[in-house]
Parts: sequence; C-alpha cells; structure tokens
Amino acid sequence: MMEKRSLKQADKIVLKPITVLIVDDSISERVLIRARLQQLGHHVFEASDGYRASKIFTDKIGKIDLILLDVQMPGINGFETAMRIREFEEERGGEWCPIIFLSGRNEPEDIAQGIESGGDDYLVKPINSIILQAKIKSMQRIADMRHRLLDYQHQLEKLVNIDELTQLPNRRNFYMTLENELNRAKRHSLPFSVAYMDLDYFKQVNDSYGHDAGDTVLQSVAKIISANLRGCDLIGRVGGEEFCFCLIGTDADKVISACNRYRTLIEGLSIQTGDQVLKITASFGTTTFIPGSDDSSSLIARADKALYQAKEMGRNCVKHL
Ligand code: GH3
Ligand code: MG
Ligand code: MG
Repeated sequence: MMEKRSLKQADKIVLKPITVLIVDDSISERVLIRARLQQLGHHVFEASDGYRASKIFTDKIGKIDLILLDVQMPGINGFETAMRIREFEEERGGEWCPIIFLSGRNEPEDIAQGIESGGDDYLVKPINSIILQAKIKSMQRIADMRHRLLDYQHQLEKLVNIDELTQLPNRRNFYMTLENELNRAKRHSLPFSVAYMDLDYFKQVNDSYGHDAGDTVLQSVAKIISANLRGCDLIGRVGGEEFCFCLIGTDADKVISACNRYRTLIEGLSIQTGDQVLKITASFGTTTFIPGSDDSSSLIARADKALYQAKEMGRNCVKHL
C-alpha cells in the first residue's frame, strides 16, 4: 500500500524540459535512456565515449543541464571523464553541471569513487524510469538553487562595485582597478595617466533646479562619457560630482587631448529636466606617471592639485601637472 502511494507521487513529479548528455558506449543503452528522457520531454545529446563527451560538453558549455555518465567505457572511463569535466569547469570559474553515473556495478567502492571523481549521484543499471525521473528532479532542484545563489552573488557584487545613480564603477572599485592597471602599465613599461574631472558650479544646479535635476545632470554626464570612452580609458564616480579617469598607454599630450574631447562633449550637452534645458561644464586635472618616483598616491595627489588649478584658472578647462 505504502509503496504504491510513493510510486504514484514520484510519477506526478513535473519536470521542466532540460538538456541531457547521455554518455554510454552501448548503443542499445543510449537508445533506451534517450527514449525515456524524450518521453519526459527532455532534449538529448549523445556521446559514445569520454573523449566525445568532453568535446560536446566544452563545445556546448552552459547548454547541458545534466550528464548521465556510464562508468565502464573504452578509452577514458566515466570517472576520468567526470574529472576532466570538473577540471574544465574549474578553469571556467566554477561552473557546475550535475553528473549522475549509470553503472552496471554496485560495489560500495565504485559508488565512492564516482562521488570522489566529481559525480553527484550514482545509479545502478538497469535504470528504473521513476527513479531516474526523481533523481533528475533532485539535480534540477540543486541546479536551480545554485543559479539563484549566483544571481544573488552578481547582484551583491554590483551593489558593492557599481554606483547606483550613474552605473559607473564606484570609488572603491575604481581605485582598486587603478592600482591594478598602474601595476600592469609598470610591468609593460607603458605610459599611464590619471585625470580628475569635477563638474563646475554643480551646487548651483541643485540649488536652482532641485536635487533630482542635479541627479539627471550626473546621469547625463556619465552617459555621454561612457558612450564616448576611448577603448583604453576607464572612468569611475569617486565623489558627488567628481569622476576619475585612468588612461592606460596614454602620455601627457594624449591625456590632455582626450580630456579636452570629454570636456567638449559635456559642454555640448543640453540636459532636459522637466521643462528646463540645463547646460553644464567640467574642469579636468591631469597628470602622467613618472617611473621611478611616482606611486598611485602621488599620482592621484598631483591630479587633484591640477584639478584645483583648473578651477582657479576659471573652470571648463584642462590643467596638466
Ligand atoms: P566647483 O565649480 O568649485 O566644483 O563648485 P561646485 O558647486 O560644483 O562644488 P561644491 O563642492 O561646492 O558642490 C558640489 C555639490 O554636489 C554639493 C552636493 O550637494 C552636490 N552633490 C553631491 N553628490 C550629489 C548627488 O548624488 N546628487 C546631487 N543632485 N547632488 C550631489
Ligand atoms: Mg564641482
Ligand atoms: Mg567637487
């Protein structure tokens, strides 16, 4: 009575269609499993050995949701195949596709080795359809949970690194990148420049048109710069209306002309807020890394000083130190 009820429940398990890679050297086994999976509405790829399985998996990375892997196969066996797949996933930054071994052997040592080699479950042939269906469901549940965790992780990383208003790298993220890029430039003996940009009389925008209008101005400036950023330049929002550029492979002449280009773009903006059209300008302080005497702090301090002088010179200009 008890058994009948649980079978009925397992029968009722509803599965989303997934893509399954069946790996088995026996054609008849593959045909049998394929038929069962297709009956359940799943998509199927097949491989007759470990090499082909690895190839399909790497070619179709991200598209396979589950691997059903035979253990005894000519060439590399299932355990070895699983290890290769796990190594590949590791290199790709920790991806994970569930692997269920399907084997004719049910020695405890085999099952243990299957799990050791990276498998997630181990079923003994002949495979019962209802058990297979339930195991797929359980793998799917884990995969879904993992996707949700990864989504949260991405959202958190975004919150920590990206400025919400402008969608630019925030202060912390930008200075970390700058440090890394400066080290890279030093290793490759590349010129490297830094530029500070500060909006002119921005407080007046807030005072005259309101904080929301100020926010729109910040977003418009970030948008026009991002859309016109040279491939080798990076920008971050490092303060309220202060931005910083890291210009890789850029010497003194080039940083001045790049910033004059950015300055002109901002000067040319007509920013619509409500029924007003606002104009804004920006001042730039630029500097170039001096090998042997500079570090990131002295570089940033000099760019900041240059910006101060640009403000003193009357704003809407670029000052290089
Ligand atoms: P200067 O030309 O000398 O740079 O003058 P300024 O008015 O731009 O500079 P100041 O430092 O006096 O004012 C900066 C203003 O930026 C003050 C602050 O309220 C505003 N601000 C900072 N962050 C934000 C923000 O996220 N949104 C808005 N709307 N305003 C901001
Ligand atoms: Mg300002
Ligand atoms: Mg400021």
